[in-house]
Amino acid sequence: MPDRIAFIGLGIMGRPMALNLRRAGYDLAVYARRPESMEPLAAAGAMTWRSPAQAAAQAEVIFTMVADTPDVEQVILGPGGVLEGAAPGAVVVDMSTISAAATRVIAGRLEGQGVAMLDAPVSGGESGAIAGTLSIMVGGAVPVFDRVRPLLEVLGRNIVHVGTNGAGQVCKSCNQIVVGATIAGVAEAILLARAAGVDPARVREALLGGFAASRILEVHGQRMIDGNFAPGFKARLHQKDMRIVGEAAAQLGLGLPTAASIAQYLDALVDQGLGELDSAAIYKVLESMNH
Ligand code: NAP
Repeated sequence: MPDRIAFIGLGIMGRPMALNLRRAGYDLAVYARRPESMEPLAAAGAMTWRSPAQAAAQAEVIFTMVADTPDVEQVILGPGGVLEGAAPGAVVVDMSTISAAATRVIAGRLEGQGVAMLDAPVSGGESGAIAGTLSIMVGGAVPVFDRVRPLLEVLGRNIVHVGTNGAGQVCKSCNQIVVGATIAGVAEAILLARAAGVDPARVREALLGGFAASRILEVHGQRMIDGNFAPGFKARLHQKDMRIVGEAAAQLGLGLPTAASIAQYLDALVDQGLGELDSAAIYKVLESMNH
C-alpha cells in the first residue's frame, strides 16, 4: 500500500482533504501557490515544497485539487510541474473538476513517462471534505484504482469506479447537471410559494417528506428561504462546470437545454459580480427576472 503522498492545491476542498490524509498517518508532501495556505499542513507535520515537481518527487501517489482545466495542465505539465518530478511507477490522482477530453491528454502525457493517472472528481462540498464523506467518481485503470483505493477511503464514502480515464469527469458533469437543474427547480418552487402568499418554509417541509425530497431542497431550499448565500460551492465554480458540460455536449453533438439554461443562470450571476456567492443564489437571478 502506498504511504508517501503529495497533495497539490490547498483551497476550500484540498486543505481538509490533505489534512485527513495526514491525520490518517500518511507521510505527506504539499505544495500550494500561496505559502500561507500550507501553514495548517506544516503544523500537522506535512513537508512543504516550492513546486509541484519537488512535492511529487517525494511521493508514490500525487493528488491534485486545483480549480480549472488550465490549472491542472499547469501544475502537472507546466514548468516545475508534477511531470518533471514524479518517478516512474507513481500515480497522479486529479480530484479537481475539469474537462474529460483534457484529462485523457494529460493521462497520455503522464503514461509516456511511466506515471499512471486517475481522474477522481468529488461531490459533497466543503463539509464532505472535512468529514471525509465525499462521493468520488473515478476514471482510470482498475489495478491503479485498486492500489489507490485505501487513500480514497480516507477522503470519501461512496467511491465508484466509473470507467477509463475521463469517465470520472463525465460522471461529475452528469452530477452538475442534476444539481443545477434541482437548484433551479427548488428556486422556482420557492418563488411560486412566496408569490402565492404561501409560507415557503412550510412548502419545503411538506416536500421533504415526498418524491420531491432531495439534499438540494433540504440545504439550498433553506438557503433560499433565509436569503443566505454564503458559499458553499461558489457560483463561479459551478459556472466553470457548466461550461465543461456545454463543451462536452457540443463535441458530442448533443442538445442539452436544461444544462444550457443552468449555464445562463450562472453566467448572469457571475456577470452581476455575484460569482463568489453559493450557486443557490440562482434564486436571486430568478427573483430579479420576475420583478
Ligand atoms: P478553491 O478554494 O478556489 O481552491 C483551489 C486551489 O487551487 C486554490 O488554493 C488555488 O490557489 C489553487 N490553484 C488554482 N489554480 C492554480 C494553479 N494554476 N497553480 C497552483 N495552484 C492553483 O476551490 P475549491 O472549492 O477547493 O475547488 C477545487 C476543485 O474542486 C474545483 O475544481 C472545484 O470545481 C471542485 N469542487 C469544489 C467543491 C466545493 O464545494 N467547493 C465541491 C466539489 C468539487 P490560490 O489559493 O493561490 O488561488
